[in-house]
Amino acid sequence: MTSPTLKRTGTMDIGNTFAALPDAFSTRLLPTPLAQPYLVCASPTAAALIHLDPAEFTTDNFIETFTGNRLPADSTPLAAVYSGHQFGVWAGQLGDGRAILLGDVPSVAGRMELQLKGAGPTPYSRGGDGRAVLRSSIREFLCSEAMAGLGIPTTRALCVTGSDQRAMREAPETTAVTTRMAPSFIRFGSFEHWYQKDRPDLLRALADHVIDQHYPQARADANPYAALLTSVTRRTAQMVAHWQAVGFMHGVMNTDNMSILGLTLDYGPFGFMDGFDPSHICNHTDQQGRYAYAMQPQIAHWNCYALGQALLPLIGTVEDTEAALANFKPDYDSMMAGLLQAKLGLTTVLPDDTALVDSLFAILQAGRVDFTLFFRRLGDLQTDRPDTDAPLRDLFIDRPAFDAWAAAYRQRLQQELRGDAERRLAMHAVNPKYVLRNHLAQVAIEKAQDRDFSEVARLLAILEKPFDDQPEFDNYAALPPDWASQLEVSCSS
Ligand code: AMP
Ligand code: MG
Repeated sequence: MTSPTLKRTGTMDIGNTFAALPDAFSTRLLPTPLAQPYLVCASPTAAALIHLDPAEFTTDNFIETFTGNRLPADSTPLAAVYSGHQFGVWAGQLGDGRAILLGDVPSVAGRMELQLKGAGPTPYSRGGDGRAVLRSSIREFLCSEAMAGLGIPTTRALCVTGSDQRAMREAPETTAVTTRMAPSFIRFGSFEHWYQKDRPDLLRALADHVIDQHYPQARADANPYAALLTSVTRRTAQMVAHWQAVGFMHGVMNTDNMSILGLTLDYGPFGFMDGFDPSHICNHTDQQGRYAYAMQPQIAHWNCYALGQALLPLIGTVEDTEAALANFKPDYDSMMAGLLQAKLGLTTVLPDDTALVDSLFAILQAGRVDFTLFFRRLGDLQTDRPDTDAPLRDLFIDRPAFDAWAAAYRQRLQQELRGDAERRLAMHAVNPKYVLRNHLAQVAIEKAQDRDFSEVARLLAILEKPFDDQPEFDNYAALPPDWASQLEVSCSS
């Protein structure tokens, strides 16, 4: 099969499937231009998904188009309405307050929507300015692409453009527009919206749209809406298991930030675990720790219940709704068990493995051991050579505790058929060397604020291949510096 010719910005075959929904779902409007935009960063792998020529990145047309200053032919830009539960409380109507959907384009797998985040106010801005600042845009861009590199379901980021035009946050900051890509940006909250408004007709129209476009197999089920809820619940459980396995914390798991496709969506005050602490809260605004690391699986399940409540009128019975939601726990548990097994380099399951995992997490927590470094270095462990354990062992303050665990792990490895070399390769393919630690993003952001975008590009290149050794970038895999613990990220972005 020949690959399709690469497209230019002006020759994207743009449609808007979402716009076919009734008018009540969105407001058609134009992005608000930003003065003299410039390219901050762009992702060649994201561009490849939509057959866009990366040579376009530096063109005037690309930069103007993905800032919202120039409309692609046939685009029917719109902002969508949705509602949601924020921090467990019903928040009423929200919506795309600063995101504008340009439309959808062909991709390697179906059509992909292109959305400009930070492209100006909409009827759903609720007093906000419709803008996004450079730092949060770079964080969303890098993390979207880093998650894709990790193989975790996520919305993608094509590019960030910046402007010297400012927006007021705690202090004035320069603004940016992030172009996001996903097959759909529909959220759990999109369904809750019509449920709460008591509009079963529009609820059904939305569910039918999502089934037809994204879950066609649900149509064959005796109860397509129950099948939809089952699929969404399962994808959500799997997504969160992936998060837990790499130590990713979303930070704002409100139902309006939960993708109907089970994609990681709306990167705000997210974080990756440095020293392991299950109660770690990455969002400075989340004082109760509702979205702490260890809470994420149960919050995701809770969010699925909110979706289930909204779909109940279509599904028909509480029993069928609960049956769909009951998939969460077994799916999460089996996914997590599989991921942990792979992280530990085990190919078989033995009865004592749960105890081995539990005792590992206990010593990681007790010593606040760096999550990413630990699993990466565990792959290098030599079964017959405890004398070579130093790089791993030195991560622990309580060395005897490590030695005891390592002895049990070595015994367990005796039950495996694979040798060290093979196990190491397999473990390094699932335990990333590079994750987007806050301090790495911070350095790139500070340089970008001085108009030096080279560090953003370097980080993107490293994080696209997080499992590769890339020895020239060893320092990007190091323990965070002391100043990193002072970094605070919040919802203000
Ligand atoms: P978030 O917590 O970022 O997911 O945002 C929650 C809601 O607030 C969404 O409906 C956003 O579109 C909206 N929002 C956040 N920041 C802004 C802003 N600067 N201007 C307008 N709306 C915003
Ligand atoms: Mg949001």
